[in-house]
Amino acid sequence: MVIGVPKETVAGERRVALVPELVPKLKEAGLEVRLEPGAGQSAGHPDGSYLEKGAQMAPDVLAEADVVLKVRPPSADEVERMKEGATFIGFLAPYANAPVIRACADRRITAFSMELMPRLARAQSMDALSAMSTVAGYKAVLLAAGRLPRFFPLLMTAAGTMTPTRLLVVGAGVAGLQAIGTARRLGALVEAYDTRPAVKEQVESLGAKFVVLDLETKDAEDKGGYARGQSEEFYRRQQEMMLKSVTAADVVISTALVPGQRAPVLITEEMVRGMRPGSVIVDLAAEQGGNCALTVPGEDVLRHDVLVMGPTNLPGTMPLHASEMYATTVTNFLAHLLKDGSLHLDLTDELTRGPLVTHQGEVVHEAVRARL
Ligand code: NAD
Repeated sequence: MVIGVPKETVAGERRVALVPELVPKLKEAGLEVRLEPGAGQSAGHPDGSYLEKGAQMAPDVLAEADVVLKVRPPSADEVERMKEGATFIGFLAPYANAPVIRACADRRITAFSMELMPRLARAQSMDALSAMSTVAGYKAVLLAAGRLPRFFPLLMTAAGTMTPTRLLVVGAGVAGLQAIGTARRLGALVEAYDTRPAVKEQVESLGAKFVVLDLETKDAEDKGGYARGQSEEFYRRQQEMMLKSVTAADVVISTALVPGQRAPVLITEEMVRGMRPGSVIVDLAAEQGGNCALTVPGEDVLRHDVLVMGPTNLPGTMPLHASEMYATTVTNFLAHLLKDGSLHLDLTDELTRGPLVTHQGEVVHEAVRARL
């Protein structure tokens, strides 16, 4: 069976779905590994580093692969170039990508969406979203520090005492917790809020203060560990209650997401206007519409003297480690699907069935099908 890794085609995407260190693992499982020349170049892995580990180069890798490993969802053209009946493993943006998902079904592609990996203990090593959130949370803090007109830590110098930066994290999931840890290491005073009450202890264990808001959050978490969407009224009250924390902060890092929905707007223009000049907001929810009303996805905008950053691909800016982590999750998932060197799909297994979007010409994932 041929495992194929194409070069990513989305502008600015520097990650690759397989790193050289993992080639021997696939070969030991009886697989052949082929990459499009240059696939790993921008992640720091020239072709030679894959060849040394026993992979081959194949200019038309999509046409040759039985299993395609990829970071970004395929374009319609890439689906067209894949072998009929091949398997795809990668991000699929399953709720925002209807034409590509239909094209996968039409070409009888078995497509797995890494976003839909169930949150089970045994799936942790295949959790690509958490891996990429770790990168994003870390980098968001560095972006803010790089643009902030002040120090992060308390500095007592002969030239005066510099007070520490106050940083607020809204949404303390994987990215938020990583942002808290990174900001604490740089010496900021950190506060965080999340609608899932279970998070309080995790926030405090990282040395940050949990912001308590008088909101009813008993049902805030679904069975899968994700946040549930709330009513407009809930978000309006949340905005009111967060005003004080946001305007007291020099930096806000927002990561609040609800799977399959537009990100909730939690930071209003009024809040931004109340922040000190020079403050920075890094909105990690930008790709899902943003947690700040002023966010422009993919851009940095200055509004009311506050820099509102809307990065949409922070993992792509740290391609070496992001690729290493991503490749580990996809190859672990591939290994889960293998038996004696070929794919063996047990559709009664939640771990196989959960991320499966198209199979044998059908869109088999219920929620994705409903969205189509
Ligand atoms: P996510 O990226 O979907 O959302 C980010 C955070 O935003 C979440 O913590 C969510 O509760 C929060 N949020 C949503 N609406 C909000 C609002 N209105 N105000 C404030 N915060 C809001 O979530 P995630 O970071 O991918 O994961 C969330 C949690 O799932 C993790 O903290 C972890 O406990 C759990 N998890 C479990 C596993 C596993 O068991 N395999 C793997 C990864 C994560």
